[in-house]
Amino acid sequence: MLTGENAPMKPSQIETLFARLAELNPHPRTELEYRTPFELLVAVILSAQATDVGVNKATRKLFAVANTPAAMLALGEPGLLRYIASIGLCNAKARHILATCRLLLERHGGEVPSVRAALEALPGVGRKTANVVLNTAFGEPTIAVDTHIFRVANRTGLARGKTPLAVERALLRRVPPAYRQNAHHWLILHGRYVCKARRPQCASCVLADLCAQGVKAARIHATATNAGESNRHRRRS
Ligand code: SF4
Repeated sequence: MLTGENAPMKPSQIETLFARLAELNPHPRTELEYRTPFELLVAVILSAQATDVGVNKATRKLFAVANTPAAMLALGEPGLLRYIASIGLCNAKARHILATCRLLLERHGGEVPSVRAALEALPGVGRKTANVVLNTAFGEPTIAVDTHIFRVANRTGLARGKTPLAVERALLRRVPPAYRQNAHHWLILHGRYVCKARRPQCASCVLADLCAQGVKAARIHATATNAGESNRHRRRS
């Protein structure tokens, strides 16, 4: 049987969780810098296993000279690599971006498609990248599950799953419709700055009383504090 600490979050708790995140940050945004769907697509391809800060540093200069598929192709692979050399897996990413640019011109008139199947047919674009573009550029209530969201969803009991796809499906079932559009951003930011992988900041987390791990951490802290006070009391008497 699932105990309180392992049980999934109740719908009323999920509602409260998102109400609190929404109050803290009513209009959450991606931290990737972009002005057009094409810039967003390139930035998201570059962001795999890289930080948003590192990607922004590279794309600020790259997009100043090439922010369309045709301009990107004109740079060629060596030209593109000059801008993205500081980003991990830059060789593979450069090849994917240029192949994607070719397909955008051949099949989509140079525009980024707003249909999942067409997006996932682009080189370097998987389900997660497609979800980010559909959500952020086209306003669809998709939820891209990255490492931060995977961790937060499992730790809290919001939506548990062994794979990103399982967590995504659970989130789509469990997140109230009113919060679905922004859920991706709220959960990423919470995972990045509060519910960190190594040192989650449970003591100051606004979700601590709702979260399975937060409740457990508070119980352990209370037990340790009580034991310390009992020992001090015994030593004094
Ligand atoms: S209480 Fe801790 S584990 Fe739970 S969401 Fe907050 S930081 Fe993460």
